[in-house]
Amino acid sequence: MTARDFVYTSQPQRVVFGAGSLQHLAREIDALGARRALVLSTPEQRGQAERVADMLGTHAAGVFDRAVMHVPIETAREAREVARQLGADCAIAIGGGSTTGLGKAIALDSGLPILAIPTTYAGSEMTPIYGLTEAGIKKTGKDFRVLPRTVIYDPELSRTLPVGLSVTSGINAIAHAAEGLYAQDSNPVMDLMAEEGIAALARALPAIRTKPDDIDARSDALYGAWLCGSVLGNVGMALHHKLCHTLGGSFNLPHAEVHTVVLPHALIFNAQATPHAMTRIARALGTASAPHGIQDLARDNGAPVALRDIGMKESDLDLAADIAVRNPYWNPKPFGPAERNEIRALLQRAWAGEPPG
Ligand code: NAD
Repeated sequence: MTARDFVYTSQPQRVVFGAGSLQHLAREIDALGARRALVLSTPEQRGQAERVADMLGTHAAGVFDRAVMHVPIETAREAREVARQLGADCAIAIGGGSTTGLGKAIALDSGLPILAIPTTYAGSEMTPIYGLTEAGIKKTGKDFRVLPRTVIYDPELSRTLPVGLSVTSGINAIAHAAEGLYAQDSNPVMDLMAEEGIAALARALPAIRTKPDDIDARSDALYGAWLCGSVLGNVGMALHHKLCHTLGGSFNLPHAEVHTVVLPHALIFNAQATPHAMTRIARALGTASAPHGIQDLARDNGAPVALRDIGMKESDLDLAADIAVRNPYWNPKPFGPAERNEIRALLQRAWAGEPPG
């Protein structure tokens, strides 16, 4: 195959990776020129946040532990006010996409630099994309002020991530890479990262299931999450992400689980239009078929494969199909009002947990 034309912009970010790399926190805060860091977490991860604050001593401004899914505007306002009152000059987000999202909401408003310490595989730390929920409606946008300046990936911190969430969060990461391989603005660097990221996660998830605190498996998974998150941050997403935003946003389904259930079905919809992407995904998974390989990875590791098992009502499928085709994203095989029945059928199969087809 001859080289294709592309545009590639590298993002200004520093990544520190390795088991035990949290020990470099003070050095990294110093490198940002920060003196008073506000540490963010969910209530469940308050212990980890306090440990981070303790490590910083007088350079910690405080801990704000009220991060929740989808960044409600009220929480964002409260956190911004706390940051202002404490005179914070940096935010440290330790946790998954919800906590990183709260950090982004503060940065969007104040320009404070963010240091992210991801403990799931969602990948938000590698993207300039933010989300804010106001009056039940989640709005997303892109702004380079919210891109974390520094990311510390310490696999030790992901050892406590429950196996179920590890598997679904890992497949959430794979979804970024899979759609990156057929993105309209894809490029050869992201293709390499995507294939390597899928392979690392496909290797790691069964190993985590067998031994959740295996540090090699946790390292592989976090490495894969970094690669897949980078793809999400650099190229556009398509049908799969549109369906997941619709199902997560309008029907309040859990983020990582929705990605896990929908991905095989979105891939088969695009398979004929994207043979090269399917070959690379299947190669990374070590399977003959990309869509079936993803569903097997989920099922074999105890993850849900049916929307009905994660809270979706069958009676809502019509509305979900209507919303999904209303403002479609670019997709290698177009989907819009004319494809509404095909999308509705896809959702039915995903709801019932049938094989992709
Ligand atoms: P999450 O951040 O909501 O975390 C889920 C739960 O797991 C929380 O209770 C959290 O405290 C807990 N947890 C996280 N790490 C843990 C660990 N190591 N040990 C024990 N518990 C741990 O879930 P998520 O899937 O990481 O993030 C989902 C959110 O992130 C969604 O709102 C999604 O829209 C957003 N997101 C945004 C982007 C972006 O680029 N902007 C990318 C991916 C996801």
